[in-house]
Amino acid sequence: MSEVDEYGFNVAIQEKARRYLREKILLNLFELTFFTFAALFVVFSGISQALRNYAKSYVSDPWGYIAVYCLIGYTIFWIFSLIFKFLGNYLIEHKYGVSVQTLSSWLKDQAKIYVGTLAFLLPVVELIYYSMRKTPTIWWLITWFFTCIGIAFTMYIFPVVIMPLFYKFEPLKDKELIERLVRLAEKAKVKVVGVYKMGAAAKTRRAIGALTGMGNTRRILLSDTLLDNYTKDEIEGVIGHELGHHVHKHIGKIMVALMIIMLISLYLVNLALRNSLDVFGFEGIADIANLPLFGMVINLVNWVSMPVLNSFSRRLERQADEYELKLVDKPEAFISCMVKICNQNLRYANPHPLIEAFFYDHPSGRNRIKLARKFIESKKTA
Ligand SMILES: [Zn+2]
Repeated sequence: MSEVDEYGFNVAIQEKARRYLREKILLNLFELTFFTFAALFVVFSGISQALRNYAKSYVSDPWGYIAVYCLIGYTIFWIFSLIFKFLGNYLIEHKYGVSVQTLSSWLKDQAKIYVGTLAFLLPVVELIYYSMRKTPTIWWLITWFFTCIGIAFTMYIFPVVIMPLFYKFEPLKDKELIERLVRLAEKAKVKVVGVYKMGAAAKTRRAIGALTGMGNTRRILLSDTLLDNYTKDEIEGVIGHELGHHVHKHIGKIMVALMIIMLISLYLVNLALRNSLDVFGFEGIADIANLPLFGMVINLVNWVSMPVLNSFSRRLERQADEYELKLVDKPEAFISCMVKICNQNLRYANPHPLIEAFFYDHPSGRNRIKLARKFIESKKTA
């Protein structure tokens, strides 16, 4: 029997999880630094401006040369980001045995992401720069407004359009489990339109249980990696937690938080682009050559806002845990499930409070088990 700590976590696996987390964080920091300097470099050296001129020599119309610029620029960016993704998303995940995806399947996914992102990004960038040309003073407000609609729309179509591109889904066959989950949803007064099994085992060892979509795309997703390794009580707990998110309208709250951060980001982009006009010899705010700066500011704001957003997210996760404990009322299953998830998903359960504050969007395993223990105590005294 392998050694476990006071919370029940496997000591050896947790040590591995700690190293895994550290490598991921270091790589992310390196990536942030790299792309920040790369963005500054391409506008300082005039590479971006040269690419714009090159694109212009083909098509003089702004819609046209912006498309050419984006196509070439994004492809170069993608190649560099692929290197980082290969290290972080493939190599490290394999080294620690989290991912079992083959390289060819992984590359296929990356190609899909490339095409998908380009198809999405191209019209977005075109419209942003169009609004910069037409309304140079308030383009960021207009862009923000449409981004909000875009975020809501993406969340709506995500489970039905995006997820199936990467995972296979089929209706769950386990009658008893379906009944238990549907009954749980009814108890929480949440309408779900289906329970699906998600084929994740070919790609990852992570267990995934989710309640996704909005309105009539709302569905329960259970990965095969979850179904195969967890008891029905534990799975009920996972879905109980997800129901907690819905009952407390967390998706809406997260969306509002994202929108606020987006508004601040776009305002700061506007400031940065305005103040860099003369420095880099841009032809005005609507000059596509400033796109690397645009991306850089968004990326930096993302990082700076990460602890704020994560602290908000942890609060909501705690609320969902509290809801689950009351709704499902199986705290022992909650604890055993938490231990399994942290081990299986290689989540480090015992991080330094600062690491948790900055990087954890869920409370650490240790803190979540503490919550369940408190619940057990409160039931004893009640
Ligand atoms: Zn959650």
